[in-house]
Amino acid sequence: GQAESYRILHEADLRDYLAGRPKLVAALGGGPDEWSITEVGDGNLNLVFIVKGALGGVAVKQALPYVRLVGESWPLPLSRAHYEYLALTRQAQLAPGLVPTVLHHNDALALTVMELLEPHIIMRKGLIAGTQYSRFVDDITTFMARTLFFTSDLALTAAEKKEGIAAFAGNHALCKITEDLIFTDPYRVAEQNRWTAPYLDATAAGLRDDMELHVAISRLKLKFMASPEALIHGDLHTGSIMVTDSQTQVIDPEFAFYGPMGFDVGAVIANLLMAYFASSGHERSPDERRAFEGWVLETVEQVWTEFARKFLELWRKDAAGDAYPVSLFPGEKGAARLEAERQAYMQRLLGDTVGFAAAKTIRRIFGLAHNIDFELIEDPHKRAVSEARAVRLARAMMVETGAFPAIADVTSAARKLR
Ligand code: ADP
Ligand code: MG
Ligand code: MG
Ligand code: MG
Repeated sequence: GQAESYRILHEADLRDYLAGRPKLVAALGGGPDEWSITEVGDGNLNLVFIVKGALGGVAVKQALPYVRLVGESWPLPLSRAHYEYLALTRQAQLAPGLVPTVLHHNDALALTVMELLEPHIIMRKGLIAGTQYSRFVDDITTFMARTLFFTSDLALTAAEKKEGIAAFAGNHALCKITEDLIFTDPYRVAEQNRWTAPYLDATAAGLRDDMELHVAISRLKLKFMASPEALIHGDLHTGSIMVTDSQTQVIDPEFAFYGPMGFDVGAVIANLLMAYFASSGHERSPDERRAFEGWVLETVEQVWTEFARKFLELWRKDAAGDAYPVSLFPGEKGAARLEAERQAYMQRLLGDTVGFAAAKTIRRIFGLAHNIDFELIEDPHKRAVSEARAVRLARAMMVETGAFPAIADVTSAARKLR
């Protein structure tokens, strides 16, 4: 029961634990002795086991009391498993079919049992291999438009909104990781920073010396800290998305809290842009991946345009929230003015998205946590060329955000840098 105290479940303990839960025994099928249990966690923070029985499989995620990537010297609250569970169940209501179904959760053990996603792979790996995903735009934009809109003041009463903020406010240790690793450390000397040396040494020094950039990243940090616009996923990179040709599933919302919407949209766009810039480093013959690269940039454009279209559609039809009271916008004149204001809102959200996308890019090249899009480019010079292009665009997106009034301005700048 919930009274039990936390312990790390190793394979044998996990088998016993699952065997004691009839619903899970039924889902797995066969006898517990026949279940295969494999630890597959490739993330930075937690343990993930895949358990398979005669009838089916489950994924079991357990939080560790420290950051897995770094070790016990960096403690991290187990409560993140509670927030992940809360976010997963909320997202399942708002965006059905786009997150794995939760089958069981135990707060004391910081453990969640969920639907096994199979044969899904982590999208980042598919992108590195040069695979195009035809469902991705529609699914990810539905996920973002619905989870962000329906947890915002446009859809909720003020009381509901504040209850939502309160429910996630305790997840501040995870927010602090973002505040430090994304919004601060890459721009100063920090022990955990690393980059492709010596090629990017001068660029790294430049980041530490660039006061315009420091102002821009500080504004973004403040926006991240002080803008509870909606329940955001908080870690929506392509390593938090599992795909097949016909399905998209969003996993790993342990960073969820009420924050700025552009942080999620920007995360998706940044990770597509990094896949684009890394792509030339993965080609086996010149221009082999041009079609893929074209698809990635088209996808960047569509992620924004489809997200904006769906979000606006929800706003026009489902605006039950306390923000923008319709009584203030009567008649045809009111409706026209409100529609213009919706467009202005989306324009500001695009600006946030562009800025956050830039922040997410720079941290992956100079901070603690890198991504395999770049890391798997073996030749460090080639890797540095890809990374330098990404950083150049990111610096412009962050400091001269106004020069990117449309998403096509981002993609055409990316195209020119190839
Ligand atoms: P972390 O928080 O440590 O990053 P993730 O939730 O991202 O953990 O999971 C780590 C890995 O475990 C994922 O990259 C994926 O390979 C695998 N995984 C996680 N959840 C599932 C699932 N429901 N089905 C199949 N594999 C999963
Ligand atoms: Mg993860
Ligand atoms: Mg599903
Ligand atoms: Mg995680």
